[in-house]
Amino acid sequence: MKRDALYIDGEWTAADSGKTIDVVNPATGAVIGTVPDAGAAETRKAILSAERAFESYSQTTAADRAAKLHKLHDLILDHQDDLARMLTEEQGKPLTEARAEIGMSAAYVRWFAEEARRVYGEIIPSPWQDRQLHATREPIGVVAAITPWNFPSSMLARKIAPALAAGCTVVAKPASQTPYSGLIWGQLCEAAGFARGVVNVVTGDARTIGAELCSNQAVRKVTFTGSTQVGKILLRQAADTVKKVSMELGGNAPFIVFDDADLDAAVAGAIAAKFRNSGQTCVCTNRVYVQDGIHDAFMARFATAIEALKMGNGLEDDVQAGPLIDENSLAKVEEFVADAQAKGGNITLGGKRLRSRGFFFAPTLIENANDDMRLSREEVFGPLAPVFKFTSEEEVLRRANATEFGLAAYFYTQSLGRAMRVSRALEYGIVGINEGLVTTEVAPFGGFKESGVGREGGPHGIEDYLEIKYVCMGGL
Ligand code: ADP
Repeated sequence: MKRDALYIDGEWTAADSGKTIDVVNPATGAVIGTVPDAGAAETRKAILSAERAFESYSQTTAADRAAKLHKLHDLILDHQDDLARMLTEEQGKPLTEARAEIGMSAAYVRWFAEEARRVYGEIIPSPWQDRQLHATREPIGVVAAITPWNFPSSMLARKIAPALAAGCTVVAKPASQTPYSGLIWGQLCEAAGFARGVVNVVTGDARTIGAELCSNQAVRKVTFTGSTQVGKILLRQAADTVKKVSMELGGNAPFIVFDDADLDAAVAGAIAAKFRNSGQTCVCTNRVYVQDGIHDAFMARFATAIEALKMGNGLEDDVQAGPLIDENSLAKVEEFVADAQAKGGNITLGGKRLRSRGFFFAPTLIENANDDMRLSREEVFGPLAPVFKFTSEEEVLRRANATEFGLAAYFYTQSLGRAMRVSRALEYGIVGINEGLVTTEVAPFGGFKESGVGREGGPHGIEDYLEIKYVCMGGL
């Protein structure tokens, strides 16, 4: 299944230079294969192929596109186990999480297969008797999709599926750490019956490929999931040709436990929201706020739950926590721990690397966290759970919103009034009340503030791939 070639215009090819990039299994540190190290020239070929394919693909019927997407959905599920295994091997997450991710990819594809048939236009009440006005929705054109390594399959599903449903063609650039789960989309789309050039996948130098995708006139839209820092670069680069953009960027999710919370539910939610994918998701809890009346009881149970997490190679049975993606991530997490310690934090669990091979960092509990620590402001992307104590609702809302990010927030309370008040006050695009896992293909996913532009999933997810055309017909 590990395709080690670029997928351009329906052909599998090497980079022009013949150069390759090593792909490493983060659980062992071993090289598991290589993929082409492509640059601007190959990217231009892929864009040209997508541009040519758009001419005919954009004219296909919605029913035809939906049928192919349904076929793609079935193919993904037919190969769920193999796809999950490949994902775990290059990404590190436990096999159960990888299977769930492949299931989510299929779910997004099915959702947008259904949405493809509901792209309606409008007849607008006319202010003139002799003119009829209507608005239609048309595919935007060639879409560039740049995706990260933390969800190497489903992040592409959220972009490729709505693009194809809308009638757009795609050039995808998966993250270099996890290219196989990206390249396989070429093979799956071909098997589902999409014509050559409709989907292209290139791997290689992110900066060079990204710059070409963002500056090429033929690309009409850039959709990106990744860090806010890189998102800003892409926004600037896309400005010169005024491309439409969708950005799913970083987060700094607060997880608030009020005195009236169901404690067991809050602990289970915090574990799920914090330690899934070893803390490497953009909606992962970054800061745990616990009200003073319940603080000590929560800490005791939270610590027990963290200690029980089984860490290891994701391919082994019952593993719940895998490695981080690479050495850089490990070093960053270590910096956050050292900074927290220097500013008065108590590391009561973990706090260090594990194993001599692979990139493992122990699930870590930090008590007595405060707002001066870097981890209160920056996205950690690792298995650190800093716990901040708070006294009042007003205080915790102020602290929770005091960030430039606005992706996900979670809180636990049994009070109906508080649930309403707090969910209204949180400046976040996604809010979980008494729930730590909220992502689903049927709901809009996206952030406020510097966490992004646009929404993926739900009925909103296809809108970003459509242009609205207003037509005024006169002389009636
Ligand atoms: P993460 O911190 O999750 O690795 P990044 O934003 O660095 O997030 O990476 C997300 C995606 O963006 C990856 O596919 C990466 O290769 C790509 N990327 C990184 N830097 C650039 C850049 N300067 N231009 C275009 N893409 C980039």
